[in-house]
Amino acid sequence: MDFLRPASWEEALAAKAEHPTAVPIAGGTDVMVEINFDHRRPEYLLDLNRVGELTEWEVGGESVRLGASVPYTAIMENLRAELPGLALASHTVASPQIRNRGGVGGNLGTASPAGDAHPALLAAGAEVEAESVRGSRMIPIDEFYTGVKRNALAPDELIRAVHIKKADGPQQYSKVGTRNAMVIAVCAFGLALHPQTRTVRTGIGSAAPTPVRAKAAEEFLSAALEEGGFWESGKIITPSIAKQFAELASGGCNPIDDVRGTAKYRRHAVGIMARRTLGWTWEQYRGTARTLEGVA
Ligand SMILES: Cc1cc2nc3c(=O)[nH]c(=O)nc-3n(C[C@H](O)[C@H](O)[C@H](O)COP(=O)(O)OP(=O)(O)OC[C@H]3O[C@@H](n4cnc5c(N)ncnc54)[C@H](O)[C@@H]3O)c2cc1C
Repeated sequence: MDFLRPASWEEALAAKAEHPTAVPIAGGTDVMVEINFDHRRPEYLLDLNRVGELTEWEVGGESVRLGASVPYTAIMENLRAELPGLALASHTVASPQIRNRGGVGGNLGTASPAGDAHPALLAAGAEVEAESVRGSRMIPIDEFYTGVKRNALAPDELIRAVHIKKADGPQQYSKVGTRNAMVIAVCAFGLALHPQTRTVRTGIGSAAPTPVRAKAAEEFLSAALEEGGFWESGKIITPSIAKQFAELASGGCNPIDDVRGTAKYRRHAVGIMARRTLGWTWEQYRGTARTLEGVA
């Protein structure tokens, strides 16, 4: 196995163009497991750790440009206000050691349906900045996941950054696992309220071949909040709205039975998480609405 160690982004792109089968390695928390277990024996490893800009982030007016290798710990410590959903999801990833190494670029590269960043990225709204020597393009997050552990990157492309919309309202992330830490999701749910556009967005993890949005649930809730004047009044959401949102979120799953859980359990749990995250985010919104507008 040859080890390629580019010193700059341009060198990394050139190496990937020359060796499209080269496997990039960032934190290595997925790649090294595969190599150690002999599940993968690439001809070339492309080490991105000397490319400093990949661990940097910029907070802009509308969005955060998160370098592909920014570790989860940095997201939790520095971007909680701008990216609350992703910060909460980062908290649930593995252990402090893994969170110090692993990042969102690696989670996207692996594109496991169980990856914790995905529901948060889907709910917030994100675009993946992919680049090759041929040029740069932005891939909307909804189009990034193309199958089980498959993504939309071309063989010569690398992820340079992820552009994630800054939160304009409360966001939540919920994960079911067999224990509280160091656990892969049985299923997960992300929810973001977007008061500016009066919409809601969701992300479901580990309950379909790819991470997905529960679009019918989003459309129902956005319409119900609008028609009932909930955004202005900040009044309590009725149990029937919460119930229907949960049922539609559950219906947005396409799960399988596997060692971690049954399809039936996953559908059920996603419904529960949808209702809970709605309760949490709405209470937070009501608090903000009360403070900002003096409404009850
Ligand atoms: C003990 C343990 C526990 C874990 N627990 C969790 C968990 O709870 N939740 C969770 O989501 N994950 C978990 N993981 C998986 C892993 O930590 C995450 O997927 C992490 O985000 C991977 O990031 P990384 O930088 O280490 O990626 P790497 O291992 O370096 O790379 C992962 C994949 O992405 C590709 N890649 C990396 N950078 C780029 C780039 N810039 N452009 C293109 N492709 C790229 C690589 O080629 C590879 O295919 C766990 C792993 C371990 C070992």
